[in-house]
Amino acid sequence: MKTHDEMSCRRLILESLVEYEDGSMPEPERRVFEQHLSHCPPCVVFLKSYQATGRTLRMLKPREIPKNLAEAVMRFVRERCEKKP
Ligand SMILES: [Zn+2]
Repeated sequence: MKTHDEMSCRRLILESLVEYEDGSMPEPERRVFEQHLSHCPPCVVFLKSYQATGRTLRMLKPREIPKNLAEAVMRFVRERCEKKP
């Protein structure tokens, strides 16, 4: 039985990360998200890549990162992640 659905995982991360990162995610959702991370190492790796990228972006643009830019970054990070052995 497969418990880790990579596709829905990635969707969860992509949809949640912007809110999670900018602090607008409601506390109950945040807890669910963190709980998921605690038993899903691939998502932690993904989150860390995103945070590193997001930090770089914030340095370039201290104001809010446009959603479409965030999506482009996520696509880039995702592609890089998937190339890792
Ligand atoms: Zn996951």
